[in-house]
Amino acid sequence: MIAAIPSAVLIGVDGKLVSVEVHVSNGLPGFTVVGLPDAAVRESRDRVRAALLSSGLPWPLRRVTVNLAPSGVRKGGAGLDLPIAVGVLVASGELAPEAVDGMAFIGELGLDGSLRGLAGTLVLAEALRHRTLVVPEVSAGEAALCRDGRVRSAGNLRQLVDCLAGRHPWTEPAPPPVTGGLPASGAAPGGGPDLSEIRGQRLARRALEVAAAGGHHLLLVGPPGSGKTMLANRMADLLPPLSRATALEAARVHSAAGVPLTPSGLPCRPPFRAPHHGASAVSMIGGGTTRMRPGEISLAHGGVLFLDEMGEFPTVVLDALRQPLEEGQVRVSRAGGSATFPARFVLVGAMNPCPCGEGGPPGHCRCRESARERYAHRLSAPLLDRFDIAVRVDRPDVDDLIGGPPGETTATVAARVAAARRLATERRVPSNAALSGPALGRTVPMTDEAATELELEMRSGALTARGLHRVHRIARTVADLDGGGAAIEASHVREALLLRCQRRLLLGEEPR
Ligand SMILES: [Zn+2]
Repeated sequence: MIAAIPSAVLIGVDGKLVSVEVHVSNGLPGFTVVGLPDAAVRESRDRVRAALLSSGLPWPLRRVTVNLAPSGVRKGGAGLDLPIAVGVLVASGELAPEAVDGMAFIGELGLDGSLRGLAGTLVLAEALRHRTLVVPEVSAGEAALCRDGRVRSAGNLRQLVDCLAGRHPWTEPAPPPVTGGLPASGAAPGGGPDLSEIRGQRLARRALEVAAAGGHHLLLVGPPGSGKTMLANRMADLLPPLSRATALEAARVHSAAGVPLTPSGLPCRPPFRAPHHGASAVSMIGGGTTRMRPGEISLAHGGVLFLDEMGEFPTVVLDALRQPLEEGQVRVSRAGGSATFPARFVLVGAMNPCPCGEGGPPGHCRCRESARERYAHRLSAPLLDRFDIAVRVDRPDVDDLIGGPPGETTATVAARVAAARRLATERRVPSNAALSGPALGRTVPMTDEAATELELEMRSGALTARGLHRVHRIARTVADLDGGGAAIEASHVREALLLRCQRRLLLGEEPR
């Protein structure tokens, strides 16, 4: 007898439908799986058989053939254990075909018959949304995130068979909460440390605000102990909550990476990721040999990617950042296939001014001039070009630390950021950083005074054509933060000139 059980496998952050066809026939007892299974799926033969036997269910002493259709797609992971087991039970007559009518199954089996959750449940559930989906109990919340009910779950195989056969009622899954956060590496966004705890640092705080408001990538250059990490940690809390579309994209990435989403539900706060410079290229960018996994840049989708000690990251990793920074997504190709992951984030980089960390004007510290030069060029010109804003962060004054007034709170600044972001939405871009040259010219009025200010800079040779666009974009954001989408004034241009990214800063020279 033949049974066909609908299921799905994870490819990148997409779910691909798979039909698990099971044929039980007379002949020498055996168990074969065909249809491009990978090693984990081939091993499911042993898991399925052991799970059935330890659940007190009969194993057919006949010939069992499993075909995974369509045969052109390589199937990975252990999520097909459960549909294979159900298929065997139906094909051997243990379960009536009507019992599984309109249903789809995903889940891994333990040797004891327990049902285990797997990476990508949310994505697989989306792919199977037209059917009643049966998942392991631990995955029920995540599976329900993208569906309106029709999720069934069980803790083990025996319980599942009893429910399918109508001998036992299904347990109703608890409704998922509407909001939640993404697990962070580093500081926790939403309720993380407050901006008001940072004393002094007027320019750096302002740079953080402008970067958050305009979605501008930000580079912080300063000696150890100057508070670069403290500043970056507060960035995600300045960003507005995720839109539902971005939240779903972020949830899919986290699900595909195997980060459990329940019980916190769909994320609403932007993620904050702070990978160490020792992280491998695959863990940063995504990929992998057995299964395509999203990397840190995709886990930061919708939020902040913080690269501390940016000069210490391998060149291959830094170079690989350029394409996703440009396109907001990353395409990973490996022998096993290719996948595209979303990767739109605000990049915050932090760097020491020189190898010894002390920095200052040339000759100030014990680093040789050539060593400083080499260090400054760890960031290639095309990568440095992605940063709109760069500022020097110095160690705070003792006066500020002891008696200075507390700065503005995160909530106060976040309110200004949210207002500025709304203006960008009216321009049909996610943030001002996405405004191209022509779009800038179209949407943005500038006073004559401001235009003169820019022209003077151009004529003095301090501003290239590329730099002009950068200053223009930052000035737009600064003006937006002033409220109401007003015209760009000379003061906005002057502030943008101060904030813009230039390599001089890395070389310890005075910005001009
Ligand atoms: Zn030095």
